Amino acid sequence: MPISPPPMLSVEEALERVLSVIRPLPPERTPLLDALGRVLAEDVAAAEDLPPYANSAMDGYAVQAADTVGASRDRPARLRVVGMVAAGHVPDAEVAPGTAVRIMTGAPLPPGADAVVPVEETETSGDWVDILTEAPTGQYVRPAGEDVTAGEVVLRRGQVIRPQEVGMLAALGRREVAVVRRPRVAILATGDEVVEIDAPLAPGKIRNANSYSNAAQVLRYGGQPVMLGIAGDRVEDLSAKIELGLSRGVDLFLTSGGVSVGDFDLVKKVLAASGEMHFWRVRMKPGKPLAFGHIGGVPFLGLPGNPVSVMVSFETFARPAILKMSGHTAWERPTVRARLLDAIPRKDGRRHYLRVRVAARNGEYVARLTGGQGSGMLSSLVKANGLAVIPEEWAQVPAGAEVSVILLDEGL
Ligand code: AMP
Ligand code: MG
Repeated sequence: MPISPPPMLSVEEALERVLSVIRPLPPERTPLLDALGRVLAEDVAAAEDLPPYANSAMDGYAVQAADTVGASRDRPARLRVVGMVAAGHVPDAEVAPGTAVRIMTGAPLPPGADAVVPVEETETSGDWVDILTEAPTGQYVRPAGEDVTAGEVVLRRGQVIRPQEVGMLAALGRREVAVVRRPRVAILATGDEVVEIDAPLAPGKIRNANSYSNAAQVLRYGGQPVMLGIAGDRVEDLSAKIELGLSRGVDLFLTSGGVSVGDFDLVKKVLAASGEMHFWRVRMKPGKPLAFGHIGGVPFLGLPGNPVSVMVSFETFARPAILKMSGHTAWERPTVRARLLDAIPRKDGRRHYLRVRVAARNGEYVARLTGGQGSGMLSSLVKANGLAVIPEEWAQVPAGAEVSVILLDEGL
């Protein structure tokens, strides 16, 4: 029976189909620091004012502003020092007209005071302090609730928790917070030639790079890799390892290899037999073959086997899926327009992703190929900080052409 070629999709079409079946995972409560980089699943309101009490923004003297009117270096206002208050303590005196209280940054403002004069603008002598400038009412006073008022919703569901959100949650006394659960991502390598990374290299064998690069990508985007090892090119072995992965409660299944048109490319066959399978050629290079479907109710991405293809396919399809599952609503990487200094004499009608190093030079971005662009050549990806995107329509790329570069180390 003649086999009709699988449909050829644009990157956008393929991504849309993948993302259309991906839903955000349920929330869980997590210790504050484990929330970093994750998506908040609750609105957070302040139980108290922040700061909780009026306090000093400077080391100096708490005073009544009215006592300093007209004060200058030549005609200082002389006040009697009636007490002292340090951060963490409560004032031992009130500020009555004609008096001042020595105060440290963060200490509560004593009753009666309405301004702070920084120590640099004073001179002390014994129990007296000379105020050398006028202090307007409220100067260097941080009123209670100036940052956040009690009851205010400070953080909203859907926000990404960065270090500043962690700081705010800590200030609000939140030891735990509800965030979207991390996706558990099954990672299975395929191929009779693939051996574990600590195994001796027998003739015909190569080490399993893909499971580790993919696991690192999963970790980087906030997922939990579930390592399933290597399946040989036999239906029984592949099925058994997929079953094993499903039994471990995963949210997304990734395989590498076994999705092209070789005699032993069995991923599609197994996926079609025990799940639901779509197989596409995606108009991209590297990373043309892509199997996508469901198995045991779990979304399944059969990524290509070549070590660069698998990573670029992950970047293009698995990364957005993982981020969407994690509750993110934006995952586009930042791109820059850059001048590609190398020429590409010929290309096919696919979107090419070229491994480049991009840098700012004389007010513009320039990009250079980092080496050979073969889909198995990881060394040029190691040297790269970007992927230059060459549109489908371009038949070649002249040196100096302006292209978009995806910044691989920026963004989520
Ligand atoms: P395949 O699509 O299975 O034919 O694999 C394409 C190429 O990627 C072959 O040269 C494989 O040897 C290589 N490959 C497949 N899986 C891995 C892996 N886990 N690590 C490194 N290379 C791999
Ligand atoms: Mg293979």
